[in-house]
Amino acid sequence: MFRSAIRDAADNSAVQRVLSEAPFAQGVIRRFVAGENLEAAIDVARSLSTQGLRISLEYLADPIVERDGAARVTNNYAEMLRRLAVEGLAGSVEAALPLSAVGQVFDRHTAYDNAGLICEAAREAGTRVTLEMHTHQYVDGTLDILRRLRPDFPDIGVVVQAYLKRTEGDIAELAGPGYRVRLTKGTYDEPESVAYQSRAEIDKSYVRCMNLLMSGEGYPVFGTHDLRLITIAKERAAWHGRTRDSFEFEMLHGVNAALQRRLVAAGYPVRVYVPYGEQWHRYLGRRLADRPTAMLAFAKGLRRHYPRETLHPVPKMHEEQ
Ligand SMILES: Cc1cc2nc3c(=O)[nH]c(=O)nc-3n(C[C@H](O)[C@H](O)[C@H](O)COP(=O)(O)OP(=O)(O)OC[C@H]3O[C@@H](n4cnc5c(N)ncnc54)[C@H](O)[C@@H]3O)c2cc1C
Repeated sequence: MFRSAIRDAADNSAVQRVLSEAPFAQGVIRRFVAGENLEAAIDVARSLSTQGLRISLEYLADPIVERDGAARVTNNYAEMLRRLAVEGLAGSVEAALPLSAVGQVFDRHTAYDNAGLICEAAREAGTRVTLEMHTHQYVDGTLDILRRLRPDFPDIGVVVQAYLKRTEGDIAELAGPGYRVRLTKGTYDEPESVAYQSRAEIDKSYVRCMNLLMSGEGYPVFGTHDLRLITIAKERAAWHGRTRDSFEFEMLHGVNAALQRRLVAAGYPVRVYVPYGEQWHRYLGRRLADRPTAMLAFAKGLRRHYPRETLHPVPKMHEEQ
């Protein structure tokens, strides 16, 4: 309830205005988001790359509901990929692509065409693309586009979410040879009919999915900051005779950088997911919702700096503070 309230608040235009202007908010935004433009993203990617980290870059765009908007996002990705090549970063940076930003919300054919153009641009740059996963309604569509793009772009990857009850079944296919799958817990509010609700159930599902991926023939990526799951992944790798370079850990920019560096020092490949762009509000809302203590501190900062009426109407956030 509280988590969905913070996500709603991040969607609220008054809150977005305050966040953009409030000096106290800038530190939190900079922690999770590289910046509003490609230059800032390239700077962060270069800095991480020199520390031995790999990077996923995502251009943040709210779900796009018309063709021109999807084309603009596609062009932005193509430009990003060209720059990675020019900057000599294509070897360590790949593109993270939410299909909702290139047409999936209104027309899956447009999403497929645009994703193909972005994969082509990635190939020309010398890198590759991973398809992000939106809410459960989009899983079939995303996997369908993955299957259709794989013959031409065999290095394309995809995200799956352990909180979805269907994911173990999906992994039966996705653990096959050549697949690159990033396993996450899942970040959206999903109903009980399709998703596990408790942390314990989600974590157990994560471990079951991890076992399937580790015993499979693909390249698993564990997108988590959960120390227990990271420890289990290392154990399972040893159990299945996997070398340290046959799988990857991936974490979000701004979350537990010390852990990222410890893993790199121990010889595990670690990728950092770095988002950038002007539409960072929803992303920030999801990150704050992932971490209730950060969310509370942030909400208190908002209340201290701005009177209630400045932010009105903000769904539920005030009542629950
Ligand atoms: C690389 C990557 C890509 C992702 N892509 C997707 C996607 O396509 N679709 C999707 O639904 N979800 C995606 N997610 C989000 C994911 O589903 C989770 O919501 C998020 O990663 C938090 O889960 P966790 O596994 O870190 O475990 P949690 O149990 O939530 O967190 C474990 C620990 O990590 C730390 N932590 C986690 N989040 C934060 C934070 N925001 N701030 C500070 N500390 C934090 C805390 O110490 C926490 O105790 C992605 C996550 C990663 C890492």
